[in-house]
Amino acid sequence: MENLLGKTLPDLQAITANAGWPRFVARQIADWLYGKRVSDIDHMTNLSLKARAYLSQHYTVGRHAPVHEVVSNDGTRKYLFQIENQKSKIENLKSLNYVESVYIPEEDRATLCVSTQIGCKMGCKFCMTGTLGFHGQLSATEILNQIFAIDQLQIANNRLPISNVVLMGEGEPMDNIDQVLRALEIMTASYGPAWSPKRITVSSVGVIPGLKRFLDESDCHLAISLHNPFPEERKEIMPAEKAWSIEKVVELLRQYDFTGQRRVSFEYICWSGVNDTPRHAEALVSLLRGLECRINLIRFHEGEENHKSETLNLKSSDEKRMIAFRDYLTTHGLTTTIRRSRGEDILAACGMLIAKRQEENR
Ligand code: SF4
Repeated sequence: MENLLGKTLPDLQAITANAGWPRFVARQIADWLYGKRVSDIDHMTNLSLKARAYLSQHYTVGRHAPVHEVVSNDGTRKYLFQIENQKSKIENLKSLNYVESVYIPEEDRATLCVSTQIGCKMGCKFCMTGTLGFHGQLSATEILNQIFAIDQLQIANNRLPISNVVLMGEGEPMDNIDQVLRALEIMTASYGPAWSPKRITVSSVGVIPGLKRFLDESDCHLAISLHNPFPEERKEIMPAEKAWSIEKVVELLRQYDFTGQRRVSFEYICWSGVNDTPRHAEALVSLLRGLECRINLIRFHEGEENHKSETLNLKSSDEKRMIAFRDYLTTHGLTTTIRRSRGEDILAACGMLIAKRQEENR
């Protein structure tokens, strides 16, 4: 059965036209899905019984609760969702039909980190998801479901509702651009939750074809995973550099305006002696010169789960080095902040909980 969640207003209008109903019924269904956020067609009480019966015959809402929750000492909550329609593709790897979402509350806001694929093709060497390989695309339904289901849980438990969404979980959003753009369209549409695009940030290693579409077809913020300004060194940790060099990515970004509402930021995980030297800071300044942007320096998650980092000998930079790196960038005109690390005790870095679950299921 098809899901209604993830349908745009024109999609719903096509359904209602096909059923011979007046046009306004499509808006009513959109309001039940995205305004009142019901999880059952029977709850759409201003539709006639006949209309509800027809919808129930052909469609389901597509809402699912997470199957697992882990809470960190700092309030960060990690959720696992089971992806039903991928079961057949991965039945011999039963732990991989999960995706992760992370709820990160702060004083006056709460951010949800959302996944866009099951696993990932990009193979970044420092990322646990990269080690799990690629196991399927998430539909717009499954992307939106993470937001709606987790928001509902927080509200029911008197916690902060989700105020911001970052597409920085499992997967490379630009490699699933059709479904990502569909989810973004619904989140920001007047018939949907009508969020400002400023509340949503989409992350990418720089998959240029998808990135170009994202820049042209959405107004949401962008975060580029940079991590090293030197192509030869970046290639070592991020194989995507071979296909889409960071220089070409920055060249593309220079064609767009980031001086107004829309923001581009660069994510930079700091590894001791690997990418936190004065040579790297100088090259970063030169790569990004003149581009309106900000840089987020990130401390690397270390721990027993990071077995890959051990083989690559990646260790987080210490505070002193990160501050020196930040100060160099700031004094050379790049707005730079050191991002606080959250939820380390519950393995909040991307893919770690799934990898742990995979080990437990073996
Ligand atoms: S860091 Fe992101 S793009 Fe790279 S492997 Fe992990 S999920 Fe994929």
